Amino acid sequence: MKAAPEAQKRLLDLAELDSAADRLAHRRRTLPELAEIDEQTKRFAKLSTEVIEAETEAGDLAREQAKAEADVDTVRTRSERDQKRLDSGAVTSPKDLASLQSEITSLHRRQGDLEEVVLEIMERREAADAKAVDLVAQRDALASTRAVAEDRRDAALAEIDKDAADVQQRRGDVVADIPADLMTLYTKLKGQYGVAAAMLYRGQCQGCKVSLSIAEMNRIKAAPHDEVLRCDECRRILVRTPESGL
Ligand SMILES: [Zn+2]
Repeated sequence: MKAAPEAQKRLLDLAELDSAADRLAHRRRTLPELAEIDEQTKRFAKLSTEVIEAETEAGDLAREQAKAEADVDTVRTRSERDQKRLDSGAVTSPKDLASLQSEITSLHRRQGDLEEVVLEIMERREAADAKAVDLVAQRDALASTRAVAEDRRDAALAEIDKDAADVQQRRGDVVADIPADLMTLYTKLKGQYGVAAAMLYRGQCQGCKVSLSIAEMNRIKAAPHDEVLRCDECRRILVRTPESGL
């Protein structure tokens, strides 16, 4: 293939811009904020589940407490009713009096037991409420931290987008100086090797860093200036410059 030496040199500018574009794409994929936000999102999901569990438990205990308190009220009402009957003097039979007295005693004991149950549920409920409040605070704090990380990520991405747009614009200018057939070869080699064109610098291919043999250097010296050369080692387009050592 033939191409003007100036057009060949533009390949080096193009390769440099393509490397810059690759670095930007790599930076975009490996922004530390991405891993950070990913980790925070997982923790947020876990905390949200824990909040629901804690709130469900607190709600269950609130209902359990209400039920236990209703049980206490029922027993207290019965015991108060019995006490009124006893105090009213309407019951006179010693057997009935003894029976009533016994029921009141039994109801008092029952009420005491039920009040113990209420206290025990209240303690568990307080702990569950405190746990739910703590988890909600943790979840909300994490949401704020994540929002800050998302802002940092967006700012970094905006900067990368700006740089990438700048690279693309400059690339367009460079491509305009390169003939279509040379560009086709460049694009094909870029797909194969990542970097398609390299400078021959002081007898060394800058693509693979291999120094050319004297025979190869002689072959290049003898080649016409517009001949598109390839490195024997890495197959990239080898571009001659005044610093090639020819
Ligand atoms: Zn090479």
